[in-house]
Amino acid sequence: MNRDLIAKLIYDVPDFPKPGVVFKDITPLLGSPEGFRLTVDELVASAPEGIDVVVGMEARGFIFAAPVALALGAGFVPVRKPGKLPGEVLSHSFELEYGSETLTIHRDAIRPGARVLVVDDVLATGGTVGATAELLSAMGAELVHVSVVMELGFLGGRERLSAAGIDNCTALV
Ligand code: IMP
Repeated sequence: MNRDLIAKLIYDVPDFPKPGVVFKDITPLLGSPEGFRLTVDELVASAPEGIDVVVGMEARGFIFAAPVALALGAGFVPVRKPGKLPGEVLSHSFELEYGSETLTIHRDAIRPGARVLVVDDVLATGGTVGATAELLSAMGAELVHVSVVMELGFLGGRERLSAAGIDNCTALV
């Protein structure tokens, strides 16, 4: 029931940001006090015990990862696009359909062995979560779970993550 409401509050926007793409717009979900609360509660419920750090990716991942971190009593660590973080960073680049993307994290933000939950809004091809997993691995952190609000199953993100050894993944809708 909760998840039906969450699904109903994510709207399809055809031809955004370019023709042929159906964009999943989460802003109606965020604008609904009940929908936003339910989403955060469900993400929190999907988390395994003993999470030390919640990692969220720029930009929409921040919106969900930060309240989940607070609810779990965990820290929040941002993964950002290049040039945004002021300290020394680790970087990982990956291929997009057209061109490539780079993500960064503060090198000393997570201690080796820390138990990490990654939270994002949408799992599409899995490139973003996969790159984040590479950053966490380079830091010696343990990625114990990935939770996303919505999965676009037809883009094969879950299979891509599985091929990278990441099988603990919850999608609310
Ligand atoms: P991936 O790297 O292909 O899995 O794409 C996931 C990333 O792109 C997430 O961080 C999302 O914020 C963003 N994204 C991809 N498709 C959508 C969409 O339809 N709606 C909102 N965000 C999307």
